[in-house]
Amino acid sequence: MTTTEQPQGSASQTADILDIARGQVLERGIGLDQEQVLSVLRLDDDRLTEILALAHDVRMRWCGPEVEVEGIVSLKTGGCPEDCHFCSQSGLFASPVRSAWIDIPSLVEAAKQTAKTGATEFCIVAAVRGPDKRLLAQVAAGIEAIRNEVDIQIACSLGMLTQEQVDELGAMGVHRYNHNLETARSHFPNVVTTHTWEERWGTLRMVRDAGMEVCCGGILGMGESLEQRAEFAADLAALEPDEVPLNFLNPRPGTPFGDLDVLPASEALKSVAAFRLALPRTILRFAGGREITLGDLGAEQGILGGVNAVIVGNYLTTLGRPAESDLDLLADLSMPIKVLNDTI
Ligand code: SF4
Repeated sequence: MTTTEQPQGSASQTADILDIARGQVLERGIGLDQEQVLSVLRLDDDRLTEILALAHDVRMRWCGPEVEVEGIVSLKTGGCPEDCHFCSQSGLFASPVRSAWIDIPSLVEAAKQTAKTGATEFCIVAAVRGPDKRLLAQVAAGIEAIRNEVDIQIACSLGMLTQEQVDELGAMGVHRYNHNLETARSHFPNVVTTHTWEERWGTLRMVRDAGMEVCCGGILGMGESLEQRAEFAADLAALEPDEVPLNFLNPRPGTPFGDLDVLPASEALKSVAAFRLALPRTILRFAGGREITLGDLGAEQGILGGVNAVIVGNYLTTLGRPAESDLDLLADLSMPIKVLNDTI
């Protein structure tokens, strides 16, 4: 937003919020603020089609038709010392994900398979509070080996970082760093107790200042109120991330959130569209949990409701849809996959 332009409508909520969004977001590219997002989240389900159509128009106007395809691999799975209540990779819960590492040849193979799908981004993920020397050495060796054989941009998701570690990753040529805020600041203590929202925010600022792209999103359906969901959208808008992965809680047995209900499909879709209206220019990605929340139709409705990036293949601890079904869908919808040359 330029300094002279202000969001409209906070003081005039008698006007229809979607009419306001049409002028403010679609025409002028100014994202909805927290109160405005809340108004969208409160709209009745019978307006869902209209909400999704507007989110789609906003995405086409400010991002274009291209869809970013990304692959993801877990370098180190499970055994994490943190207590994120949704996460089956925490070593503190009775969930079945055991600690395991993959070797460099497997990492390179995963990057090759990812590149074959047309993906431009390959994200190396580790279930840790933050990287230690051993992990960073593995990442450095992995990145070098991938660069020798595969033409793809590399992202990392290795938890909280020190400034020195940010600098090391920058020197390795990491293009984008993922670190999720997960939920609104006011809800975070109900989700994680072993570190704070502010610690995550600090890592994101350092990553941004170092010149890496910032990928930051979270999980919807973790018991947050609609007000807190709107707060989270505003938190993300303030960060101005290059990419926002949105997950829906897939309650994993053995985790503290294992008994929470799955978000109803209409609420999930409405939320994604509302986040698009708050973040008109970001790469908005469906991440985990979409199959259980939205079923097979989820990808299509999301892609036509504001989303412009997908992960192909398997997620970290649960099975996603096969790559081919997402890629076929994009072809059916005449949405081109973003090509690497355009992004360098
Ligand atoms: S979300 Fe990340 S930091 Fe939290 S328990 Fe899972 S792997 Fe660890």
